[in-house]
Amino acid sequence: MASLSLKNVCKVYPNGFVAVKDFNLEIADKEFIIFVGPSGCGKSTTLRMIAGLEEISSGELWIGDKLVNDVEPKDRDIAMVFQNYALYPHMTVYDNMAFGLKLRKVPKADIDKAVHEAAKILDIEHLLDRKPKALSGGQRQRVAMGRAIVRSPKVFLMDEPLSNLDAKLRVQMRVEISKLHQRLETTIIYVTHDQTEAMTLGTRIVVLKDGIIQQVDTPSNLYNTPNNLFVAGFIGSPQMNLIDAEVVQSGSQVTLKMSDTVSITLPAEKSEKLKSYVGKTVVVGIRPEDIKDDEEFVAAHADHTFEAQVKVYELLGAEVNLHYDIAQTTCTAKVNPRTTARPGDTVKFAMDIARLHVFDKETEQVIT
Ligand code: ATP
Repeated sequence: MASLSLKNVCKVYPNGFVAVKDFNLEIADKEFIIFVGPSGCGKSTTLRMIAGLEEISSGELWIGDKLVNDVEPKDRDIAMVFQNYALYPHMTVYDNMAFGLKLRKVPKADIDKAVHEAAKILDIEHLLDRKPKALSGGQRQRVAMGRAIVRSPKVFLMDEPLSNLDAKLRVQMRVEISKLHQRLETTIIYVTHDQTEAMTLGTRIVVLKDGIIQQVDTPSNLYNTPNNLFVAGFIGSPQMNLIDAEVVQSGSQVTLKMSDTVSITLPAEKSEKLKSYVGKTVVVGIRPEDIKDDEEFVAAHADHTFEAQVKVYELLGAEVNLHYDIAQTTCTAKVNPRTTARPGDTVKFAMDIARLHVFDKETEQVIT
Protein backbone atom coordinates (compact mmCIF):
# COMPACT_ATOMS: atom_id res chain seq x y z
CA MET A 1 0.00 0.00 0.00
CA ALA A 2 1.41 3.36 -0.99
CA SER A 3 -0.92 5.70 0.79
CA LEU A 4 0.70 8.83 2.20
CA SER A 5 -0.30 11.02 5.06
CA LEU A 6 1.05 14.48 5.82
CA LYS A 7 0.08 15.76 9.25
CA ASN A 8 0.66 19.41 10.17
CA VAL A 9 3.83 19.43 8.09
CA CYS A 10 5.81 22.68 8.22
CA LYS A 11 9.04 23.79 6.61
CA VAL A 12 11.08 26.61 8.03
CA TYR A 13 14.34 27.19 6.14
CA PRO A 14 17.48 27.98 8.15
CA ASN A 15 17.11 31.70 7.31
CA GLY A 16 13.75 31.66 9.13
CA PHE A 17 11.59 31.67 5.99
CA VAL A 18 8.42 29.61 6.44
CA ALA A 19 7.95 27.89 3.07
CA VAL A 20 5.20 25.39 4.03
CA LYS A 21 2.61 25.95 6.76
CA ASP A 22 0.55 23.30 8.49
CA PHE A 23 0.17 21.02 5.47
CA ASN A 24 -2.44 18.29 6.01
CA LEU A 25 -3.20 15.79 3.29
CA GLU A 26 -4.23 12.16 2.97
CA ILE A 27 -3.18 10.57 -0.33
CA ALA A 28 -4.79 7.25 -1.19
CA ASP A 29 -2.97 4.37 -2.85
CA LYS A 30 -2.73 4.81 -6.66
CA GLU A 31 -3.92 8.41 -6.63
CA PHE A 32 -2.50 10.93 -9.09
CA ILE A 33 -2.09 14.01 -6.91
CA ILE A 34 -1.04 17.36 -8.31
CA PHE A 35 0.55 20.20 -6.36
CA VAL A 36 -0.13 23.39 -8.27
CA GLY A 37 0.39 27.05 -7.52
CA PRO A 38 2.43 30.08 -8.53
CA SER A 39 6.21 30.26 -8.29
CA GLY A 40 7.46 30.14 -4.72
CA CYS A 41 4.26 28.72 -3.18
CA GLY A 42 6.08 25.73 -1.67
CA LYS A 43 5.32 22.94 -4.17
CA SER A 44 8.89 21.74 -4.61
CA THR A 45 9.67 22.11 -0.93
CA THR A 46 6.74 19.83 -0.05
CA LEU A 47 7.75 17.29 -2.69
CA ARG A 48 11.35 17.34 -1.51
CA MET A 49 10.24 16.75 2.07
CA ILE A 50 8.28 13.70 0.89
CA ALA A 51 11.35 12.49 -1.00
CA GLY A 52 13.52 13.02 2.06
CA LEU A 53 15.72 15.58 0.30
CA GLU A 54 14.59 18.31 2.64
CA GLU A 55 14.16 17.96 6.38
CA ILE A 56 10.64 18.31 7.81
CA SER A 57 10.73 21.13 10.40
CA SER A 58 7.63 19.90 12.25
CA GLY A 59 4.72 17.54 11.63
CA GLU A 60 4.59 13.95 10.46
CA LEU A 61 4.99 12.19 7.15
CA TRP A 62 3.61 8.66 6.90
CA ILE A 63 4.09 6.33 3.95
CA GLY A 64 1.72 3.42 4.41
CA ASP A 65 1.82 2.69 8.13
CA LYS A 66 5.38 3.88 8.63
CA LEU A 67 6.41 7.24 10.03
CA VAL A 68 9.26 8.26 7.70
CA ASN A 69 10.37 11.69 8.95
CA ASP A 70 13.77 10.29 9.80
CA VAL A 71 14.02 7.61 7.11
CA GLU A 72 16.78 8.08 4.50
CA PRO A 73 15.57 8.97 0.97
CA LYS A 74 16.87 5.67 -0.42
CA ASP A 75 14.84 3.70 2.09
CA ARG A 76 11.51 5.43 1.40
CA ASP A 77 10.56 3.36 -1.65
CA ILE A 78 10.07 6.52 -3.66
CA ALA A 79 11.45 7.56 -7.04
CA MET A 80 11.75 11.15 -8.16
CA VAL A 81 11.80 12.55 -11.69
CA PHE A 82 13.27 16.05 -11.84
CA GLN A 83 12.63 18.82 -14.34
CA ASN A 84 16.22 18.78 -15.60
CA TYR A 85 16.15 14.94 -15.89
CA ALA A 86 19.57 14.70 -14.15
CA LEU A 87 20.87 12.04 -16.56
CA TYR A 88 24.56 11.05 -16.46
CA PRO A 89 25.98 12.39 -19.75
CA HIS A 90 28.81 9.87 -20.03
CA MET A 91 26.55 6.83 -19.62
CA THR A 92 24.32 5.18 -22.19
CA VAL A 93 20.57 5.19 -21.76
CA TYR A 94 20.80 1.57 -20.58
CA ASP A 95 23.40 2.42 -17.94
CA ASN A 96 21.49 5.50 -16.83
CA MET A 97 18.44 3.36 -16.23
CA ALA A 98 20.42 0.52 -14.63
CA PHE A 99 22.53 2.74 -12.37
CA GLY A 100 20.28 2.83 -9.30
CA LEU A 101 19.76 -0.92 -9.38
CA LYS A 102 23.50 -1.58 -9.73
CA LEU A 103 24.12 0.53 -6.64
CA ARG A 104 21.65 -1.65 -4.81
CA LYS A 105 23.53 -4.73 -5.96
CA VAL A 106 20.52 -6.12 -7.80
CA PRO A 107 21.56 -9.22 -9.82
CA LYS A 108 22.56 -8.44 -13.40
CA ALA A 109 19.81 -10.55 -14.99
CA ASP A 110 17.15 -8.81 -12.92
CA ILE A 111 18.53 -5.39 -13.89
CA ASP A 112 18.48 -6.38 -17.54
CA LYS A 113 14.87 -7.52 -17.29
CA ALA A 114 13.76 -4.35 -15.45
CA VAL A 115 15.52 -2.03 -17.92
CA HIS A 116 14.05 -3.77 -20.95
CA GLU A 117 10.56 -3.83 -19.47
CA ALA A 118 10.67 -0.12 -18.63
CA ALA A 119 12.15 0.70 -22.04
CA LYS A 120 9.31 -1.18 -23.67
CA ILE A 121 6.65 0.68 -21.68
CA LEU A 122 8.23 3.99 -22.66
CA ASP A 123 9.02 3.01 -26.26
CA ILE A 124 12.75 3.73 -25.93
CA GLU A 125 14.14 0.23 -26.54
CA HIS A 126 15.86 1.41 -29.71
CA LEU A 127 17.69 4.12 -27.77
CA LEU A 128 19.32 2.01 -25.07
CA ASP A 129 22.84 2.28 -26.54
CA ARG A 130 22.76 6.04 -27.05
CA LYS A 131 24.17 8.70 -24.76
CA PRO A 132 21.83 11.49 -23.52
CA LYS A 133 23.34 14.12 -25.83
CA ALA A 134 22.12 12.09 -28.84
CA LEU A 135 18.51 12.25 -27.63
CA SER A 136 15.70 14.77 -28.11
CA GLY A 137 14.17 16.52 -25.11
CA GLY A 138 11.19 14.19 -25.11
CA GLN A 139 13.40 11.12 -25.33
CA ARG A 140 15.54 12.33 -22.43
CA GLN A 141 12.37 12.85 -20.48
CA ARG A 142 11.37 9.24 -21.15
CA VAL A 143 14.77 8.00 -19.98
CA ALA A 144 14.37 9.98 -16.76
CA MET A 145 10.98 8.30 -16.29
CA GLY A 146 12.52 4.94 -17.16
CA ARG A 147 15.15 5.35 -14.49
CA ALA A 148 12.37 5.84 -11.95
CA ILE A 149 10.22 2.98 -13.29
CA VAL A 150 12.97 0.31 -13.10
CA ARG A 151 13.03 0.69 -9.35
CA SER A 152 9.28 -0.12 -9.21
CA PRO A 153 8.80 2.30 -6.35
CA LYS A 154 5.59 2.60 -4.38
CA VAL A 155 5.41 6.33 -5.04
CA PHE A 156 6.57 8.47 -7.95
CA LEU A 157 7.41 12.08 -7.34
CA MET A 158 7.63 14.32 -10.39
CA ASP A 159 8.84 17.91 -10.19
CA GLU A 160 7.73 19.82 -13.29
CA PRO A 161 8.91 16.96 -15.52
CA LEU A 162 7.64 18.58 -18.71
CA SER A 163 8.82 22.13 -18.17
CA ASN A 164 11.81 21.83 -20.51
CA LEU A 165 9.78 20.56 -23.45
CA ASP A 166 8.20 22.60 -26.23
CA ALA A 167 4.43 23.08 -26.21
CA LYS A 168 3.63 20.25 -28.63
CA LEU A 169 5.82 17.71 -26.88
CA ARG A 170 4.37 18.71 -23.53
CA VAL A 171 0.91 17.78 -24.74
CA GLN A 172 2.18 14.43 -26.07
CA MET A 173 4.07 13.62 -22.88
CA ARG A 174 1.08 14.63 -20.79
CA VAL A 175 -0.92 11.89 -22.45
CA GLU A 176 1.99 9.47 -22.01
CA ILE A 177 2.18 10.18 -18.29
CA SER A 178 -1.54 9.59 -17.94
CA LYS A 179 -1.20 6.23 -19.65
CA LEU A 180 1.81 5.42 -17.51
CA HIS A 181 -0.18 6.04 -14.36
CA GLN A 182 -2.93 3.68 -15.54
CA ARG A 183 -0.38 1.08 -16.47
CA LEU A 184 1.85 1.21 -13.42
CA GLU A 185 -0.96 1.56 -10.89
CA THR A 186 1.21 3.49 -8.46
CA THR A 187 0.75 6.65 -6.49
CA ILE A 188 2.05 9.72 -8.30
CA ILE A 189 2.64 13.14 -6.80
CA TYR A 190 3.28 15.67 -9.49
CA VAL A 191 4.33 19.30 -9.17
CA THR A 192 3.47 21.87 -11.80
CA HIS A 193 2.63 25.55 -12.09
CA ASP A 194 0.69 24.81 -15.28
CA GLN A 195 -3.00 24.60 -14.54
CA THR A 196 -3.80 22.75 -17.78
CA GLU A 197 -1.39 20.01 -16.76
CA ALA A 198 -2.96 19.97 -13.31
CA MET A 199 -6.51 19.77 -14.64
CA THR A 200 -5.83 17.05 -17.21
CA LEU A 201 -3.58 14.77 -15.18
CA GLY A 202 -4.74 14.87 -11.60
CA THR A 203 -7.31 12.71 -9.88
CA ARG A 204 -7.08 15.37 -7.18
CA ILE A 205 -5.37 18.72 -7.14
CA VAL A 206 -3.83 20.56 -4.21
CA VAL A 207 -3.78 24.32 -4.85
CA LEU A 208 -1.07 26.09 -2.86
CA LYS A 209 -0.37 29.74 -2.18
CA ASP A 210 2.33 31.12 0.13
CA GLY A 211 2.94 27.68 1.61
CA ILE A 212 -0.72 27.21 2.58
CA ILE A 213 -3.21 24.78 1.03
CA GLN A 214 -6.07 26.71 -0.55
CA GLN A 215 -8.21 23.78 -1.72
CA VAL A 216 -7.86 20.06 -2.31
CA ASP A 217 -10.36 18.71 -4.79
CA THR A 218 -11.07 16.94 -8.06
CA PRO A 219 -10.38 18.99 -11.20
CA SER A 220 -14.08 19.52 -11.88
CA ASN A 221 -14.91 20.57 -8.32
CA LEU A 222 -12.03 23.04 -8.33
CA TYR A 223 -13.31 24.50 -11.56
CA ASN A 224 -16.98 24.58 -10.65
CA THR A 225 -16.88 25.34 -6.94
CA PRO A 226 -13.71 27.24 -5.99
CA ASN A 227 -13.43 27.88 -2.25
CA ASN A 228 -11.89 31.30 -2.54
CA LEU A 229 -10.85 34.10 -4.85
CA PHE A 230 -7.36 32.76 -5.34
CA VAL A 231 -8.51 29.35 -6.58
CA ALA A 232 -11.21 31.00 -8.71
CA GLY A 233 -8.64 33.16 -10.44
CA PHE A 234 -5.91 30.53 -10.70
CA ILE A 235 -7.88 27.66 -12.24
CA GLY A 236 -9.33 28.27 -15.72
CA SER A 237 -8.17 29.99 -18.85
CA PRO A 238 -9.12 32.65 -19.75
CA GLN A 239 -9.41 33.55 -16.11
CA MET A 240 -12.76 33.82 -14.32
CA ASN A 241 -14.11 37.39 -14.48
CA LEU A 242 -13.87 38.87 -10.99
CA ILE A 243 -15.87 42.06 -10.62
CA ASP A 244 -16.49 44.23 -7.55
CA ALA A 245 -20.19 44.70 -6.85
CA GLU A 246 -22.26 46.62 -4.35
CA VAL A 247 -24.93 44.55 -2.61
CA VAL A 248 -28.28 46.38 -2.76
CA GLN A 249 -31.60 45.27 -1.26
CA SER A 250 -34.39 45.15 -3.84
CA GLY A 251 -37.66 44.00 -2.32
CA SER A 252 -37.13 40.57 -0.81
CA GLN A 253 -34.20 39.95 -3.12
CA VAL A 254 -30.67 41.21 -3.46
CA THR A 255 -29.14 42.99 -6.43
CA LEU A 256 -25.44 42.98 -7.24
CA LYS A 257 -24.54 46.34 -8.75
CA MET A 258 -21.34 45.98 -10.76
CA SER A 259 -21.54 49.35 -12.52
CA ASP A 260 -24.09 52.05 -13.31
CA THR A 261 -25.34 49.90 -16.18
CA VAL A 262 -24.66 46.34 -15.05
CA SER A 263 -26.78 44.93 -12.22
CA ILE A 264 -27.93 41.39 -11.54
CA THR A 265 -30.81 40.51 -9.23
CA LEU A 266 -30.24 37.18 -7.53
CA PRO A 267 -32.86 34.49 -7.02
CA ALA A 268 -34.26 33.94 -3.52
CA GLU A 269 -31.82 31.26 -2.36
CA LYS A 270 -28.69 33.16 -3.37
CA SER A 271 -30.21 36.43 -2.09
CA GLU A 272 -30.66 34.88 1.34
CA LYS A 273 -26.92 34.17 1.64
CA LEU A 274 -26.12 37.79 0.80
CA LYS A 275 -28.56 39.52 3.15
CA SER A 276 -25.87 40.34 5.69
CA TYR A 277 -23.77 41.94 2.95
CA VAL A 278 -26.32 44.62 1.97
CA GLY A 279 -24.47 47.93 1.70
CA LYS A 280 -21.11 46.21 1.36
CA THR A 281 -18.90 45.39 -1.61
CA VAL A 282 -18.44 41.76 -2.68
CA VAL A 283 -16.65 40.17 -5.62
CA VAL A 284 -18.72 38.55 -8.35
CA GLY A 285 -17.05 35.68 -10.23
CA ILE A 286 -18.30 34.41 -13.55
CA ARG A 287 -16.42 32.32 -16.09
CA PRO A 288 -16.00 33.65 -19.64
CA GLU A 289 -18.03 30.75 -21.08
CA ASP A 290 -21.00 31.71 -18.88
CA ILE A 291 -21.36 35.08 -20.60
CA LYS A 292 -22.50 35.02 -24.22
CA ASP A 293 -23.97 37.24 -26.91
CA ASP A 294 -25.80 34.76 -29.17
CA GLU A 295 -29.57 35.16 -29.51
CA GLU A 296 -30.47 31.78 -28.07
CA PHE A 297 -28.37 32.27 -24.92
CA VAL A 298 -29.56 35.85 -24.41
CA ALA A 299 -33.19 34.70 -24.77
CA ALA A 300 -32.65 31.85 -22.30
CA HIS A 301 -31.17 34.26 -19.73
CA ALA A 302 -33.30 37.29 -20.55
CA ASP A 303 -33.49 38.45 -16.92
CA HIS A 304 -29.73 38.77 -16.64
CA THR A 305 -28.56 40.79 -19.60
CA PHE A 306 -26.36 43.85 -19.89
CA GLU A 307 -24.76 45.93 -22.60
CA ALA A 308 -21.08 46.62 -23.02
CA GLN A 309 -18.79 47.97 -25.69
CA VAL A 310 -16.39 45.41 -27.14
CA LYS A 311 -12.76 46.50 -26.82
CA VAL A 312 -10.90 43.49 -28.20
CA TYR A 313 -11.93 40.58 -30.44
CA GLU A 314 -9.78 37.41 -30.37
CA LEU A 315 -10.51 34.56 -32.76
CA LEU A 316 -9.13 31.29 -31.38
CA GLY A 317 -10.53 28.91 -33.98
CA ALA A 318 -13.32 27.07 -32.20
CA GLU A 319 -14.24 30.09 -30.11
CA VAL A 320 -13.96 33.84 -29.85
CA ASN A 321 -12.99 35.84 -26.79
CA LEU A 322 -14.62 39.25 -26.55
CA HIS A 323 -13.07 41.67 -24.07
CA TYR A 324 -14.99 44.64 -22.65
CA ASP A 325 -15.08 46.66 -19.44
CA ILE A 326 -17.51 46.53 -16.54
CA ALA A 327 -16.71 49.62 -14.47
CA GLN A 328 -12.91 49.49 -14.11
CA THR A 329 -12.59 45.73 -14.71
CA THR A 330 -11.67 44.18 -18.03
CA CYS A 331 -13.97 41.21 -18.62
CA THR A 332 -14.00 38.36 -21.10
CA ALA A 333 -16.83 36.47 -22.77
CA LYS A 334 -16.05 33.22 -24.58
CA VAL A 335 -18.59 33.23 -27.38
CA ASN A 336 -19.58 31.40 -30.52
CA PRO A 337 -17.13 32.12 -33.40
CA ARG A 338 -20.12 33.10 -35.56
CA THR A 339 -20.54 36.26 -33.47
CA THR A 340 -20.78 39.45 -35.51
CA ALA A 341 -19.50 41.55 -32.59
CA ARG A 342 -16.36 43.57 -33.33
CA PRO A 343 -14.33 46.21 -31.43
CA GLY A 344 -16.37 49.37 -30.94
CA ASP A 345 -19.75 47.58 -31.10
CA THR A 346 -22.12 47.84 -28.16
CA VAL A 347 -23.23 44.27 -27.57
CA LYS A 348 -26.02 42.75 -25.51
CA PHE A 349 -24.63 39.97 -23.32
CA ALA A 350 -26.36 37.62 -20.91
CA MET A 351 -24.98 35.82 -17.85
CA ASP A 352 -25.90 32.35 -16.71
CA ILE A 353 -26.34 33.24 -13.07
CA ALA A 354 -26.73 29.62 -12.02
CA ARG A 355 -22.96 29.63 -12.59
CA LEU A 356 -22.28 32.85 -10.71
CA HIS A 357 -19.96 32.88 -7.68
CA VAL A 358 -19.87 35.55 -5.01
CA PHE A 359 -16.86 36.07 -2.74
CA ASP A 360 -16.34 38.05 0.45
CA LYS A 361 -13.99 40.88 -0.54
CA GLU A 362 -12.21 40.89 2.82
CA THR A 363 -11.81 37.21 3.66
CA GLU A 364 -11.75 36.24 -0.06
CA GLN A 365 -13.82 33.14 0.83
CA VAL A 366 -16.81 32.06 -1.26
CA ILE A 367 -20.23 33.20 -0.03
CA THR A 368 -22.36 31.44 -2.63
P1 ATP B 1 8.70 27.19 -8.37
O1 ATP B 1 7.43 26.94 -9.12
O2 ATP B 1 9.28 28.54 -8.69
O3 ATP B 1 9.68 26.07 -8.42
P2 ATP B 1 7.81 26.33 -5.73
O4 ATP B 1 6.36 26.49 -5.47
O5 ATP B 1 8.30 24.97 -6.05
O6 ATP B 1 8.28 27.38 -6.81
P3 ATP B 1 9.68 26.24 -3.54
O7 ATP B 1 10.88 25.92 -4.36
O8 ATP B 1 9.08 25.15 -2.75
O9 ATP B 1 8.55 26.90 -4.44
O10 ATP B 1 10.03 27.45 -2.58
C1 ATP B 1 9.10 27.95 -1.65
C2 ATP B 1 9.67 29.19 -1.02
O11 ATP B 1 10.77 28.83 -0.20
C3 ATP B 1 10.17 30.22 -1.99
O12 ATP B 1 9.79 31.49 -1.55
C4 ATP B 1 11.68 30.06 -1.96
O13 ATP B 1 12.33 31.28 -2.23
C5 ATP B 1 11.91 29.60 -0.55
N1 ATP B 1 13.10 28.74 -0.44
C6 ATP B 1 13.39 27.64 -1.17
N2 ATP B 1 14.56 27.09 -0.78
C7 ATP B 1 15.01 27.88 0.23
C8 ATP B 1 16.19 27.85 1.07
N3 ATP B 1 17.10 26.89 0.94
N4 ATP B 1 16.31 28.82 1.99
C9 ATP B 1 15.38 29.79 2.13
N5 ATP B 1 14.26 29.87 1.39
C10 ATP B 1 14.08 28.94 0.45
